[in-house]
Amino acid sequence: MVSKKEAFKLLKEECKKANLPLKESATNLVFGKGNSEASILFVGESPGRNEDLQGFPFVGAAGKNLDSLLLKVGLSMQEVYIANILKYRPPENRGPLPEEIKSHTPWLLKQISAMQPKVLCSLGNYATKFFMAGCDVDKMKDQPGITSVHGKVKMIEINGIKIKLIPLFHPAAIIYNRSLITEWEKDMEIVKTEISQKSLF
Ligand code: URA
Repeated sequence: MVSKKEAFKLLKEECKKANLPLKESATNLVFGKGNSEASILFVGESPGRNEDLQGFPFVGAAGKNLDSLLLKVGLSMQEVYIANILKYRPPENRGPLPEEIKSHTPWLLKQISAMQPKVLCSLGNYATKFFMAGCDVDKMKDQPGITSVHGKVKMIEINGIKIKLIPLFHPAAIIYNRSLITEWEKDMEIVKTEISQKSLF
């Protein structure tokens, strides 16, 4: 049986070859970073300029914020894996379009199948609405926004894997609204409690 690390390596190579929208204008594929054997998966929106240049998610300003938020709650990069809804950067940092989400997310779902995370923290509106909609992009517009669902645990099932979805504010939103730090920390306490309840799985 291939290890999760090996499965991720193969998936990344396959994904690089796929003809995805935005690939032409992007510098690098931004597949993910962290430990694919971890039990917590964070999913953001899409790569920005720095992520596109370096080929890794959350390495710019939002990434610095995410690093310090994780540090504050005592989580290391070894304990998490981080990916995005989109694998390539949209031009001028605009939000992902429905067609882009439809083409890119099968790769995220393959990562989820290989990783089998116990807890999935969706960062911000796009990732939260995608998972709340049962990964049906056409239903995303009917989903509640992050302000009303952050910190609320929802059991979801992806390809037969039962996962606790915990929506969190996007780290970029926290840069502009520092009062959200307290909310994020409170929500992360919920994440930590859920991870420690191993008997539920
Ligand atoms: N914002 C995201 O959602 N993802 C990144 O990788 C960087 C910023």
